[in-house]
Amino acid sequence: MLQDKNIIITGAGSGIGRATSELAASYGANVLCVDLSDAVDQTAAHINAAGGRAVAVQADVSDEKQVADYVAACVAEYGSVHGIYANAGVGGGGKPMLELSVEDWQRTLGVNTIGVFLAVKHTVPLFVEQGNGAIVCTASVAGLRANAGGVDYSASKAGVISIAQTVAYQLYGTGVRINAICPGLIETGMTKPVFDAARERGTEGRIGQINPTKRYGHPQEIGEMACFLLSERASYVNGQAVPVDGGLSASHPWAFPRS
Ligand code: NAP
Repeated sequence: MLQDKNIIITGAGSGIGRATSELAASYGANVLCVDLSDAVDQTAAHINAAGGRAVAVQADVSDEKQVADYVAACVAEYGSVHGIYANAGVGGGGKPMLELSVEDWQRTLGVNTIGVFLAVKHTVPLFVEQGNGAIVCTASVAGLRANAGGVDYSASKAGVISIAQTVAYQLYGTGVRINAICPGLIETGMTKPVFDAARERGTEGRIGQINPTKRYGHPQEIGEMACFLLSERASYVNGQAVPVDGGLSASHPWAFPRS
């Protein structure tokens, strides 16, 4: 699906980004794995050991110079960039609204929204010049509706959805596509405290009970959508916020059946 495509994936040191990097490599992509954490080295090492091709770059996606550098590193390593998955994000801590400071907002928006904007800004010129390119961003169901995160996190993800919608039109006629994925609850580093607490209480089986699939999601399930959207198979999917949430966002509030 991604044979010989040169793909940048941010947040590749953990969770969804790591799973997507491994999946993209298994679909034939050459992957530039980007993360703030040095855990990104393990992602690349794992891919290379499995016979794929990956390079790790440690960078802060909210720093414009470092974004320009990771894009340049992909060109230097692989010769071009065909797609980017701007996935790195922070949870924001879930503080109640009245406890949020301006600094909290700046950190959450800086990574989740400005990090995505910078990824777009620094890859679009390459994509426009070559007449094709695919951008995928990680938003969240929190960007669609309430009750999936704090107000800073939710607003940051609504911003990502808006970037996908508005940039799609600013890329009119260029051959470049952009889409956002809205994951539901996925077990990753970000949600580890939720899972740890439930396991400690013995209530793990209740996680995901209000979801029509009656379960939470796995990083690979987001990765499959990301790889599809990055590939030519998604050639007519553009400007969309695609929920990958087991159906969670499909419903009005409801009372789940007790057995
Ligand atoms: P994760 O396991 O914590 O992975 C996120 C990765 O991004 C971490 O390795 C993190 O590094 C890295 N990162 C954080 N800030 C960065 C920065 N400034 N520059 C570069 N890398 C940075 O969490 P995840 O769940 O896979 O998150 C991936 C994306 O999915 C995020 O955008 C998140 O908001 C979104 N999402 C997750 C869920 C869910 O239920 N898990 C649901 C909806 C949306 P550190 O560990 O060093 O911070």
